[in-house]
Amino acid sequence: MCLFCKIVNKEIPSNIILENDEFLAFHDINPKAPIHILVIPKVHVNSFNEADSELMAKMSNFIQKVASEVNIAKSGYRVITNIGVNGGQEVGHLHFHVLGGAKLHWGHFSDADPKGHF
Ligand code: 5GP
Ligand code: ZN
Repeated sequence: MCLFCKIVNKEIPSNIILENDEFLAFHDINPKAPIHILVIPKVHVNSFNEADSELMAKMSNFIQKVASEVNIAKSGYRVITNIGVNGGQEVGHLHFHVLGGAKLHWGHFSDADPKGHF
């Protein structure tokens, strides 16, 4: 069973913000912003690349509720999902990072020449 499935099953403790039958939101153990929440489906899905549109529709709604719950809906926030090796995904269970609580930086994502592809 994967790490986040164990968190869903409460075999590994987490600091839960919001939960319903299908989704769980909890604080990231290694926050990269004043607010850094992970939102996951309770069912195991490897990544966004395997997520179906019905799941994503409900996930969007749940993420919006999480943002309201921690009072960042108005001030703004960022939603990120890393996919696979190049995406930097470390945990192979679909998760969305919800980052906020301060003005976030926007910078270079790789050392490769960003204009080198097209
Ligand atoms: P990824 O790199 O896969 O997009 O993100 C995985 C995230 O999971 C990282 O931000 C990491 O800090 C977080 N993480 C890893 N293990 C745990 C854990 O046991 N508990 C919690 N709450 N977060 C974790
Ligand atoms: Zn899992």
